[in-house]
Amino acid sequence: MVIMMHQMRAETAPAAGDPDSVVSWHIVRNADLTALCGKELSPAAPVQDATRWTLDPDHNCHTCGALYLRETPYLPGEHTG
Ligand SMILES: [Zn+2]
Repeated sequence: MVIMMHQMRAETAPAAGDPDSVVSWHIVRNADLTALCGKELSPAAPVQDATRWTLDPDHNCHTCGALYLRETPYLPGEHTG
């Protein structure tokens, strides 16, 4: 059985002067640089485990969130709060 691994990858705003400033978090499959919503993300952008998706929802990409929910039977961490 193949388990699809997801990661959160940040969309950053280098134009704002801070290369690490996170505009929003997207979801990618495995080590892809293209988010589920089609956004191309930088290989230098911060990544974090998809289990953190629920921690800061204000900065999440809504399209990625919807597609991610469709690809996963449940949100990891959903039941810990
Ligand atoms: Zn997205």
